[in-house]
Order: sequence, then C-alpha cells, then structure tokens
Amino acid sequence: MHASFPVDVDLALVGGGGAASLVLAALDRHDVTGLRVAVVDPVHKRGQDRTWAFWGLPGEDLDPMLSASWSQVDVVTPAGRRVLSLDPLRYAMLRSAPVYDRAAEAERRLDAVRISAPAGKLHDDGERVTVRDPDGRDLVRAGWVLDSRPRRPKRPGRTSWLQHFRGWWLAADRPTFDPQRAVLMDFRTPQPQRGVSFGYVLPVDDRFALVEYTEFGPALLDDAGYDAALRGYADLLGLDLTALRVREVEDGVIPMTDGPFESRPSPRVVRLGTAGGATRPSTGFTFSAMLRQADQVAGALAAGRPPVPAPAYPGRHLWMDAVALRALDRGHVGGVEFFERLFDRNPPERVLRFLDGVTSPAEDLAVMRSSPLLPMTGAVLGDAAGRLRARLRR
Ligand SMILES: Cc1cc2nc3c(=O)[nH]c(=O)nc-3n(C[C@H](O)[C@H](O)[C@H](O)COP(=O)(O)OP(=O)(O)OC[C@H]3O[C@@H](n4cnc5c(N)ncnc54)[C@H](O)[C@@H]3O)c2cc1C
Repeated sequence: MHASFPVDVDLALVGGGGAASLVLAALDRHDVTGLRVAVVDPVHKRGQDRTWAFWGLPGEDLDPMLSASWSQVDVVTPAGRRVLSLDPLRYAMLRSAPVYDRAAEAERRLDAVRISAPAGKLHDDGERVTVRDPDGRDLVRAGWVLDSRPRRPKRPGRTSWLQHFRGWWLAADRPTFDPQRAVLMDFRTPQPQRGVSFGYVLPVDDRFALVEYTEFGPALLDDAGYDAALRGYADLLGLDLTALRVREVEDGVIPMTDGPFESRPSPRVVRLGTAGGATRPSTGFTFSAMLRQADQVAGALAAGRPPVPAPAYPGRHLWMDAVALRALDRGHVGGVEFFERLFDRNPPERVLRFLDGVTSPAEDLAVMRSSPLLPMTGAVLGDAAGRLRARLRR
C-alpha cells in the first residue's frame, strides 16, 4: 500500500485485469509521458490465468507475445468440416502472462502507483473523481477513472446466457496435434437441451495444445460435468487421454446478455472491459474490443484529449445480438444451424469482422440475410415486444 492517501493522479485504473493491462501497454506504445497513473486492484495479476484467442492483422505490436497464430481454421459440424482461410486476418492465441508482464513494464516506465486494495464507491464531482475503499476511506483522487471491475449490466437482459467453458492444456510425448490447424468451433459435441455447445483445439506445437469444451446457455455445469464433456470431446478427436498429461486447467464464465452495460456512468468515469460492454453478447468475444478501446484511450491521452473510447460495438450490432440471443434462447433457431449458416453463406473474413463489430451496414445486411429468415423475424418481433414491455415497466 502507498504511504499517504489519497494519492493524487491524472488517471486511475480501477481494476487491473485484461482491459487495464491493455491500456497500460497502449500508453507505452503511444509514448505517453508525464502522466500520473494509479492502479487500484487487490490482486496484482501475474502468470497464466487465461488464454485470449482473437483475430486480427499480422504485424500488430502484440505479435512478439503470441503463443501461436493460424491463417486457416476449421469449423466442424456433424455434416462436415469447413477449412476457412482467414487471409488477410489470422487467428491468434495470447496467453495472459506476457500481457501482464507487458503491463508491469509499462507501470514501471510510467512510475505508476500500485494500490493493492479493493476499491469501493467512486465519487465524481465533474472535475475530479475520488476512489474510496469499501469502508469509505479516500484512496485516490484522479482526473479520470477507467473502471473495469466486474459488474452486472445496469438492468437484467431480456435474455441472459453465459458462455462457460473448461479447457485442458494437454502435453504429449510424441507428435499428436497439427500446429498448422486450429479448430475454431467443433459442433459435433452432444448439444444441450437449451443452448449450444462446441469444442475447440488451439495447438501451440505438435505436442502441446489447449483443448476446450464450451457451452452457450442459461446454466452452468458442475465440475464433473465439464470433465465428462471434455473427455467426450477428446474422444471425438481421437485423443488417447492416458497418453497425455493435463498440464493446466482453464475455467471461465463470460456473460452473454442484451442487458445494457453502462460505459460512462458519470462525466469522468469510463468503464472498460466486460464491465464497459466489450463482451459481444452473441459470442462472448471481448479481446478485440478491449484492444481497440485501449488504443483509443491511449491515443486520446497522448493527444491531450479525454480518455473516452468509442462504444465497443455499434448499436445495430447489439440489436442484432439481442435478436440472435432471443432466437437461440426461445428455440426459434438451433445453435448449430445458426453458426453453420453464418459460416456457410459469408466469406470468413466478413463473419470474423462482424463478430468484432467492425463491419459496415451493407455487410451487416448480408450477414442478416444469411440467417434463417422466418424464425429470426419471429425473434425480431419478440424482441420489439420485450423492449416495449420493459419500457412500460420502467
Ligand atoms: C478464462 C477466460 C478466458 C477467456 N478467453 C477469451 C478469449 O479467448 N477471447 C476473448 O475475446 N475473450 C476471452 N475472455 C473474456 C475476456 O476477454 C476476459 O474476461 C478479460 O480478462 C476481461 O477483461 P476485464 O478487464 O474486463 O476483466 P478482468 O480481466 O477480469 O479484470 C477485472 C479486474 O478487476 C479487479 N477487481 C475486482 N474487484 C475489484 C475491486 N473492488 N477493486 C479493484 N479491482 C477489482 C480484479 O481483481 C481483476 O483484476 C476470457 C475470459 C476468461 C475468464
């Protein structure tokens, strides 16, 4: 803990996880100097606690930190295997340790103050923000606060699903995986009654890979459930688990909801990461939006402007996601069919850019045209009625 409170800074990062680490790295990349920074988080994130998979253009400054990248990925359904060529994009795997290390390096260069305590309420008087601890003591006074503490949406969504998963980092003594080929989604897994499930494989080399089982749906599994599902998926892949070692286990739960995440709760507080709406409701993908917003924040600070990024996703994408979530949840459309058609009827680059929230309205229309029209129309009408009901209730 720092000796004298409150600490006076220009920028306080409240929450020092994924979003904050990317901001710190971006401040370095933009050569921001002379900015007084504090990071408030009871946990100093280090090591491998998650693996980020995302797509982007090669040559970005994360490249040296990547564990692996692929220019082709497989999407597998019971009907067959599609090999998607991603050119000019590539699918990349970034483990958390180098990101947290990079953030620590930036913190040192910025001479940032690290406060290893939980933050409680924020008080924004329009000029400065006071960050208090849960007992109401002042910890920091800052010109701006970037708050990435996990939180629920402002209002419950009309559909509230979770992306939940378990992955095993599997090590083999002999060549077992094809390092040239990642599996983006493999829908041959038994499908849950409500929701959709898939497996995926991200090989680092021919003897080491992350094999993961994921569900999108309303409820979590128990511990034994995830293990059984992963064993089942390993069987489908033809892997002999008795010949492999589970080196690490990676669990996660990510919200998939049309409930609104408030990105600017007060004039000088900006929410980032999942708390700020960076998680795409229809897929749980978050990383690319966090990266984009971190770059915008650092670019603005370097230019002496307020660190306020553009919204993580355009409103029309959030609406499309609300409709898709509703269609999936109410059983208007099957999850496998939904993703199958998406990949079958669009070039892979368009799908990936759509999932990142960077497609144009014309491209969005093309994506919409590829979805099963009648059931989606039912979901659109249902969504409109749901919105109206929620508005009347408020
Ligand atoms: C295991 C896992 C794998 C994932 N893989 C992918 C992926 O492949 N691709 C993708 O796009 N997304 C992925 N995600 C989703 C998303 O990218 C990550 O969750 C990402 O870390 C979100 O960043 P964040 O900053 O919003 O939250 P976090 O990284 O969770 O950071 C929140 C921080 O807030 C701190 N905090 C909590 N309470 C307080 C408090 N009171 N005061 C101060 N600090 C506090 C926490 O200690 C934490 O450090 C994954 C998520 C998980 C859990």
